[in-house]
Amino acid sequence: MSDWEVDDDEDVKVRHTARGPQRQWTPPHPGKYSGFDRKTTWVPTPRVRGEPQWQTWRDKDGHAGARGRGRESGSRGGRGGNDGGPTTPLSFSVENSAIGMVIGRGGAKIRELEESTGARIKIHRGDFEGEVQIFGRSDAQLKAKELIDELVSQTSGNCRSYGQGSRNSFRRTESTWGAASQIPPAPALPPIDWVSMRENRLKYEAMKWKELPPLKKEFYIEAESVLNLTAEEVKQWRKENNNVFVDDLKDGEKRPIPNPVRTFLEAFQPFPGIMDNILKVGFVKPTPVQSQAWPVILKGFDLIAIAQTGTGKTLAYLLPGFIHMDQQPVPRDKRDGPGMLVLTPTRELALQIEAECSKYSYKGFTSICIYGGGDRKSQIKVVSKGVDIIIATPGRLNDLQMNDYINLKSITYLVLDEADRMLDMGFEPQIMKIILDIRPDRQTVMTSATWPAGVRRLSKSYLKDPMMVYVGTLDLAAVDTVEQSILIVQEEDKKAYVLDFIANMEPEDKVLIFVGKKLVADDLSSDLCLQGIAVQSLHGDREQCDREQALDDFKKGEVRILVATDLASRGLDVHDITHVFNYDFPRNIEEYVHRVGRTGRAGRSGASLTLLTRNDWRIAAELIHILERANQTVPEELVLMAERYEKHQRERELTAPRGGRGRGGGGGGGGGMGRRGEYRDRGDSDWKF
Ligand code: AMP
Repeated sequence: MSDWEVDDDEDVKVRHTARGPQRQWTPPHPGKYSGFDRKTTWVPTPRVRGEPQWQTWRDKDGHAGARGRGRESGSRGGRGGNDGGPTTPLSFSVENSAIGMVIGRGGAKIRELEESTGARIKIHRGDFEGEVQIFGRSDAQLKAKELIDELVSQTSGNCRSYGQGSRNSFRRTESTWGAASQIPPAPALPPIDWVSMRENRLKYEAMKWKELPPLKKEFYIEAESVLNLTAEEVKQWRKENNNVFVDDLKDGEKRPIPNPVRTFLEAFQPFPGIMDNILKVGFVKPTPVQSQAWPVILKGFDLIAIAQTGTGKTLAYLLPGFIHMDQQPVPRDKRDGPGMLVLTPTRELALQIEAECSKYSYKGFTSICIYGGGDRKSQIKVVSKGVDIIIATPGRLNDLQMNDYINLKSITYLVLDEADRMLDMGFEPQIMKIILDIRPDRQTVMTSATWPAGVRRLSKSYLKDPMMVYVGTLDLAAVDTVEQSILIVQEEDKKAYVLDFIANMEPEDKVLIFVGKKLVADDLSSDLCLQGIAVQSLHGDREQCDREQALDDFKKGEVRILVATDLASRGLDVHDITHVFNYDFPRNIEEYVHRVGRTGRAGRSGASLTLLTRNDWRIAAELIHILERANQTVPEELVLMAERYEKHQRERELTAPRGGRGRGGGGGGGGGMGRRGEYRDRGDSDWKF
């Protein structure tokens, strides 16, 4: 029996054989193969009883001599010559280019050789040459060798035409070419036609969206007062309103950037239903992001709004979304599903957006909030009944989409809310899958507090020629209205500070206490409870209903103290928080800004108190920077802390081995400022105060 015995799946095996070069395999335990060439060639045969599938080839000295005709290197010694009895194997080498010919298609030739001679033939491939071993009686061996020589010489003749130059230089090429050319072709396996596959995909895409009804996006009628604004007036208005900056991100020729609307009427006069709602909620004038976003969205452009929660960004996309849905050519009752989708990173934000949405009633539109942790069955029930607006976290929506509970094809207005946070939370794959099912000619609005590379990439993928509205900078927008105090304390004294703070709270005070870990949140809130203090806690390990209850209690003022992790640092909108207490410093300065921005909202002033320990010295310089920009007092101790850290960093750089960096040396000597957004390990204990 030969090593090339073919099993039932011959076709598959032949394909392996015929398709290009052999796969190389390096043994996982080199020592085990000592004495053998480390390189082992995968011989694509079915497993033969008792034989390993990985055939090794001993790299003998001088094996590489013969070309074309095999060079006999094995011995026919022992019991010798022509006695007709069993012998030691007859071994010789042949070039790889000839092996295919000897083996034949699917091993047919080698089987034929074995049958006609009565010998047993083994072939071991090497890098350039293979070793042929013929077992059996000596006459059978000789006969088989003769036949193989004949086959090999034919091959050798064929091969020569590829390599006429220097033998050494052509050796590898020749063999490779030869092997490829000599192995009989596989039974007509059609080559993969990538071009037509791509065309088919495009055709499929086009077909997928072919039957879609027409879409309308432009509804803006510019008011006279807006149209008549001079460039100078527009510039002045933007400067006075959080330095609003608007840009056209379309490649090539830029479009005119719409002037801001300064009143609700300038934006929504043609839509009395919207104006009624605004009157109902009693807002006085649009926020800066609304003033610039409304004309852009109502003109039908995609929009990127770089703005924090608290700037009125939700209403900036909701109101034009209502108009967009209402004005679609296909009436609502003829659509297959919802018209607006808002994707947002957390359940809390989803619930908050829904709460904002439900303050407005327009044309009877209904909305649903879909989030992980919420009751899946009832979410499915509402979706099946029909709903106009979906506000969802990507994970749960993707789950319902994959299980065919929801049809996203009717969505014409898509919002990616807090895109940076969604990326931070790893939602990109789900977002991608969701958007694949949404018509490509939709209108898309994206909001984000920051504008890092990931968000830019997302906007390139999912928005078409967007305009961008940028409202103020992260630091100034969030912390301008907050009086910020910093206290440098010992870790073990923190609890005493928080208790003292609580003991001095006024009845109307409401404090959000931020801690670094869920465990600390539990620990601190139960300590406070034990002392008879009404408190709630909010962190990711709590059941969703408990989280909702905690937030509700805090919003309604049932409790005036909420202990929370950074789950609550972004986006949560509780108007009347008077104080933010940073029990633990957050993991980066951005999070500090977000936390502090939870107070001082909606025109109110607020205060924050931050406890720092010596472990937080790395952020001292960045914190000073933020405090200075917001005209806050910078404590002397904090300055000393920053200086010490900077000195420590410099010393480290000097003593660090050449080319290396000191432990934790991310900041270099440049004033101790780390890169924005990087995570800093605060567990350094080298610091001596
Ligand atoms: P947001 O940034 O969307 O989280 O909004 C923060 C809060 O501002 C929400 O409670 C809104 O109801 C409120 N808000 C939105 N627009 C305005 C406005 N033009 N004037 C006053 N408050 C507003």
